[in-house]
Amino acid sequence: MLKDQDRIFTNLYGMHDRTLAGAKARGHWDGTAGIVAKGRDWIVEQMKASGLRGRGGAGFPTGLKWSFMPKESDGRPSYLVVNADESEPGTCKDREIMRHDPHTLIEGCLIASFAMNAHTCYIYLRGEYIREREALQAAIDEAYDAGLLGKNAAGSGWDFDLFLHHGAGAYICGEETALLESLEGKKGMPRMKPPFPAGAGLYGCPTTVNNVESIAVVPTILRRGPDWFAGFGRPNNAGTKLFAISGHVNNPCVVEEAMSISFEELIERHCGGIRGGWDNLLAVIPGGSSVPCVRGENMKDAVMDFDYLRNDLQSGLGTAAVIVMDKSTDIIKAIWRLSKFYKHESCGQCTPCREGTGWMMRVMDRLVRGEAEIEEIDMLFDVTKQVEGHTICALGDAAAWPIQGLIRNFRDEIEDRIKAQKTGRIGAMAAE
Ligand code: SF4
Repeated sequence: MLKDQDRIFTNLYGMHDRTLAGAKARGHWDGTAGIVAKGRDWIVEQMKASGLRGRGGAGFPTGLKWSFMPKESDGRPSYLVVNADESEPGTCKDREIMRHDPHTLIEGCLIASFAMNAHTCYIYLRGEYIREREALQAAIDEAYDAGLLGKNAAGSGWDFDLFLHHGAGAYICGEETALLESLEGKKGMPRMKPPFPAGAGLYGCPTTVNNVESIAVVPTILRRGPDWFAGFGRPNNAGTKLFAISGHVNNPCVVEEAMSISFEELIERHCGGIRGGWDNLLAVIPGGSSVPCVRGENMKDAVMDFDYLRNDLQSGLGTAAVIVMDKSTDIIKAIWRLSKFYKHESCGQCTPCREGTGWMMRVMDRLVRGEAEIEEIDMLFDVTKQVEGHTICALGDAAAWPIQGLIRNFRDEIEDRIKAQKTGRIGAMAAE
């Protein structure tokens, strides 16, 4: 289990003082100017050595991403944009950072922006996060008053401005290029890539978009050293990580743990076990709603990291939002609900997603009630494959994968319901 002295987020539950004074007492903003003084290349190299992979879901190495930014300006400014649009169903980790430990993020913004030659950083916040905006804005104001932001930020010699931008509550704005469009005041519709944001991002300038947690862990990694961070988790899956466990556990929570912890240990130590015991576990979605679900019996010994969940269980760590479902769950209906969500959130600009998400939802609708033919299961799977990888952004994949996981893991349940419906053994379970 992760020891208390190895926790980066020491006020995750808001039990302590979240103001600047409290943050400083817990070790934040300590020697920030000294870190900046070591230079851009040193910071990027340290981040690469730490093995940090992006915490927003895709798991791309953070240091490497930073290194894509131009070293010399061609006249255009560079920007850091922090993606705080946390909207994936089940995901609720970044909000705990922003409302209870905001200075971890603000200090990270300064250091990361310096490392990417950016004098300006925007935090794009999810529309529904009102309290988070208040807490974060108060912390930003405090940091300006204390000289930690603005001209010669924190005495580093680097001029740095940090702006908080509140979105309007569209899931698609969590996609990095849609986020940039929205930040520019346009409709939040994803852009075609390339060009990638590091070449032409916000206002056509070099931009890096990073998740809140990825940026908030930066100062502590640089203070304690990349070896310390890389010491947690299996190779290629380094560090500590916020896990957000919801659903049918006795004590749902957000907790910082070492990467590669086993699922059983995570649940037993922090969540008080599965509701009704391990035999009552039906399925788990280990990484937020867009990754495929896994059967309960395959999860108990699972290693909670990027590589294991992808390679061994055909799922993913995603944002580490772990959704636990016990045997009281109608798993077909649960996945149908996700299909409805993705259909609603599709921005509609590419055909496979706009039409496919609605088509998949309508078939799922009938599968919930058992009013389908057995052959339609394969047909549905086939359609998910036609959507996957054929769209502008990853929302198409996110809509396809939960259904693929359902069919791979719970085909018997789907068939049983269809057969039961044909023989009149179940009443219609209307999908509401
Ligand atoms: Fe929009 Fe969906 Fe295409 Fe993404 S995949 S750009 S959400 S229509």
